[in-house]
Amino acid sequence: MSSSPWDRRIERAEELAAAIPAAAELLRFYLEVARFQRSVAQAALPSMALDSPELERALRPHYERLVCLMQRIAPPEAAGDEAFLHHLTVQPYAEQQARSAATSRTAVQPLCPYCGENPVAAVLRPEGEGGKRFLLCSLCATEWEFRRLLCPRCGEEDPVKLPVFTAEQFPHVRVEACESCLTYMKAVDLTRNGMAVPEVDELAAVALDLWAREQGYTKLQINVIGM
Ligand SMILES: [Zn+2]
Ligand SMILES: [Zn+2]
Repeated sequence: MSSSPWDRRIERAEELAAAIPAAAELLRFYLEVARFQRSVAQAALPSMALDSPELERALRPHYERLVCLMQRIAPPEAAGDEAFLHHLTVQPYAEQQARSAATSRTAVQPLCPYCGENPVAAVLRPEGEGGKRFLLCSLCATEWEFRRLLCPRCGEEDPVKLPVFTAEQFPHVRVEACESCLTYMKAVDLTRNGMAVPEVDELAAVALDLWAREQGYTKLQINVIGM
């Protein structure tokens, strides 16, 4: 039996929650979200446009289930944020649709070539001697190629203005910042850790978000736990 992307994320989140006590609480929250999203994916809804009223109707029972779940586990500000809850409900559906679509992954563009949303992280995948940089869509999890030295927010390409920060604690996760527009995103480096699951390792390195914010950077796109 092959495992779904959600099974792999859940397994990785359980592993990291045990390994990184400082991130355990956030990862336990994520585990509830991921189990909910897996159940939406398992509903195997037919193909509909992402912004269609049909899809909204079809997802309604799932959305209501998520509202109850969040009232139980989330801080009040997240539990009452309809746009955030809607995003979490549509996400697994969008991911399934994107996976079956033939989208070009090589167009150099800052937004997702399938759904047009912002990237939530970068992923460095082994290729030849080094690694190739991809961006990971915050909604549908499509990955598309993107130049290593190019800010997806403002187009800055001067290497001096695109610093990379790492912390000993997370050898395979780094902060990629831009001095021109003061945004950052995290990159998960699979050339350094092939066991990493980008969406989950990005969450677990929450300490880097706190650090980047202290330095005055704003994240290009918040992740599924609102960080
Ligand atoms: Zn997308
Ligand atoms: Zn920039």
